[in-house]
Parts: sequence; structure tokens; C-alpha cells
Amino acid sequence: MRVAIYANDGKKSQNVKKKLLTRLKERHFALDDLHPEVVISIGGDGTLLSAFHHYQAQLDTIRFVGVHTGHLGFYTDWRDDEIDDLVISLESDNGQSVSYPLLDVGVKYADSPSKVHYLSLNESTLKRISSTMVTDVYLGGEFFERFRGDGLCVSTPTGSTAYNKSLGGAVVHPDLEVLQIAEISSINNRVFRTLSSPMIIAPNDWITFKPHGSNFILTVDSETYQGRTITEIYYKISKKRIHFAKYRHNHFWLRVQEAFIGIENED
Ligand code: NAD
Repeated sequence: MRVAIYANDGKKSQNVKKKLLTRLKERHFALDDLHPEVVISIGGDGTLLSAFHHYQAQLDTIRFVGVHTGHLGFYTDWRDDEIDDLVISLESDNGQSVSYPLLDVGVKYADSPSKVHYLSLNESTLKRISSTMVTDVYLGGEFFERFRGDGLCVSTPTGSTAYNKSLGGAVVHPDLEVLQIAEISSINNRVFRTLSSPMIIAPNDWITFKPHGSNFILTVDSETYQGRTITEIYYKISKKRIHFAKYRHNHFWLRVQEAFIGIENED
């Protein structure tokens, strides 16, 4: 099996990387950063997001494993003191995996005739910082509303626990192939009106934003794009998915409970 390690620069992550490299070499795994079959990210969710973007051209042939060196993350199942167990699981690997939907972000810029596509694991936001963002929102090609406010966030199911949750969006089980739109500080008064609720968009539907004016900031996970005038953005579920090596069962709602509520006795 060809394995790559993608670690953040933190001292703890670098130490875990060193230990893991030693174990993998002892067990004769092939280390291959260019064409790996399994990518082990060491750090937090942000590190896994970076690893995803680094290897996004090879998603069909890669499975990810997340080791967390801080608190339990959403994409990082393994604790840093479980390296030996992880190597045992890699040795008995039989290709088992779980996959999650991704967001296809198609952007039409005023200075180019062709659309630019970005792929998102968590979410993409459109914002305007210095003045009100005005954007027409279309659902399935039909005009829905004219949004005024700070911005809009479109998230994947696995991204629903990230920025989307801070915006009051729903947590979505990742078995559902749906997208969610959440508002960022919409203006609502007698003149201007938006739905003011998060919306879950059906699997085959698509979302279009047609922003008015310029100076928008587009984010795709941790990446930021600005400086070019955007005329239209299309959001739909991507044909591509992210695959994780599934060596043990992690119940989604238990992970949500652990991350946001903490473990309590029932009585
Ligand atoms: P980071 O690694 O510091 O991540 C920020 C926080 O988001 C961390 O606590 C991380 O564990 C958590 N996180 C990331 N993905 C998650 C997920 N799918 N479910 C639950 N929690 C998740 O910083 P970064 O590398 O810049 O991460 C980018 C992400 O940060 C973005 O994709 C966005 O979701 C999130 N973010 C959140 C807010 C907010 O909640 N107000 C604002 C901006 C960005």
C-alpha cells in the first residue's frame, strides 16, 4: 500500500509524523507523496481540509485517514496515541471506505468566458465586508429572493457542523446528499426581505447567486478568492466524493454529541 503523511507544522503533529513514519517503514509500507492510496492527515480538521485540497485531483484513488493532535475533529477519528493501532488497521486493510458528498462551485468571472470550478469539502461563502452584499438567489434556475446582508454560506452535509452551524444552520447527516444555504446577517425590515431561515436543497437541484456590484469575497473551505468581479456562482452536489478509510465504526450523532455537548450520564 502506498501511503502519504500530511501533517501540520505544529510540534506535536511533527512528533506524531516521525513516530508514524518509523512504524510504517518497519512494516515495509511504501511512502509515496505523489500517488498515494491512503493519505494520513495529522493535525486538526483544518489539516484534513488542506490535505483534501492538496490531493483533490486524485480523489477517486485516495482514501483519507485523520489523526487529531488537538481535540477530536469531525474528519479526524484517530487519537495521536493510537498510532500503533492505526498501523495494524492499515496492515489488515481490505479497501473498506466511507464516502461523503462534495460541493461543486462554478464561478463565472466578468473577465473570462469560461466557468472556473472549485471543489469544497465544508462550505463556500460569498461575502462583502465593506458594504452590504446584494445578491439575487435562484433555486433550480427560478428566482427566489434578493438577499441583502453580509453574505451567504452553502455547505455540504459534513460541513454542516462547521461554519454553517455557527450561522444557525441544521446539522445534516452525511448519508443525505443535500446542500444547505445559511444566511450571514441578512437585512430584514419593511423594505427588504429574505427567507431568514436555513434552507436544505434537494440532491438534483442547484443554487445560483447573481451578485450586484463588485468587491466580493469568495471562500472555499480555508481558501479565499477576491479581486475579480463575479457575475454568477453555481452550487451543486459534485459528481466527485471524498473517501475515508473506514477501519472502525463511528456513529455520526455520537460524534456530534461528543464535539458539541459532551458526554453525560443519562440519569
Ligand atoms: P481551523 O482548522 O481553525 O478550523 C476552524 C474550526 O472549525 C476548528 O475548530 C475545526 O475543528 C472546525 N471545523 C472545521 N471543519 C469542521 C467540520 N466539518 N465540522 C465541525 N467543525 C469543523 O481553521 P481553517 O483551517 O481555516 O478551517 C476552515 C474552516 O473553518 C471552514 O471550512 C469553516 O467551516 C470554519 N470557519 C468557521 C467559522 C465560524 O464558525 N464562525 C468562520 C470561518 C471559518
